[in-house]
Amino acid sequence: MGRVSSISCARPGCQGKVAAWLTYDYGAQQLWIDDVPGASGDHWGLCQGHAARLRAPLGWSALDRRAGVAGAPPVTGAYPPAGMAGLAT
Ligand SMILES: [Zn+2]
Repeated sequence: MGRVSSISCARPGCQGKVAAWLTYDYGAQQLWIDDVPGASGDHWGLCQGHAARLRAPLGWSALDRRAGVAGAPPVTGAYPPAGMAGLAT
């Protein structure tokens, strides 16, 4: 995993070390949070803090698939549908 650890958080202005990966599918309005980058789709690296505070845009479904947070409540939210820029932290 050393390869990805050198990448910093995708959130603007954040230099945090990537701790989780966000993969999203615009067509399905679905996003996933994983320990490793998804095999398909677009994915962004997020630091621990931003991954923990991630909220799905209104109308989207979110699923946290990280092994370390199994059983955690699903990530849901009610934010304006503004694409990835609307992902509130
Ligand atoms: Zn961050």
